[in-house]
Amino acid sequence: MRHAHLSLHPLCHWCMMQEIVTEATEVHHADGGHKGDVTKFWSGPFISTCKSCHSSVGQQQDAGRKVVAYGVDGYPIELT
Ligand SMILES: [Zn+2]
Repeated sequence: MRHAHLSLHPLCHWCMMQEIVTEATEVHHADGGHKGDVTKFWSGPFISTCKSCHSSVGQQQDAGRKVVAYGVDGYPIELT
């Protein structure tokens, strides 16, 4: 499942939002995580992330926080 998703979406979603191209190595459960819900665990929604985004942005999103980064133009971007 993870490999299938990564072959379709090989780049980190959150890095892309900041116009950085990073190879994704992990899959994050978007929409607040699966929280033990088996259907959600297997069906997603998923986003591809690099290890560093998954451990920083992913954890904050799972905790229900908004995550803001700054793009190349200096404007803040909410990472979703
Ligand atoms: Zn990333």
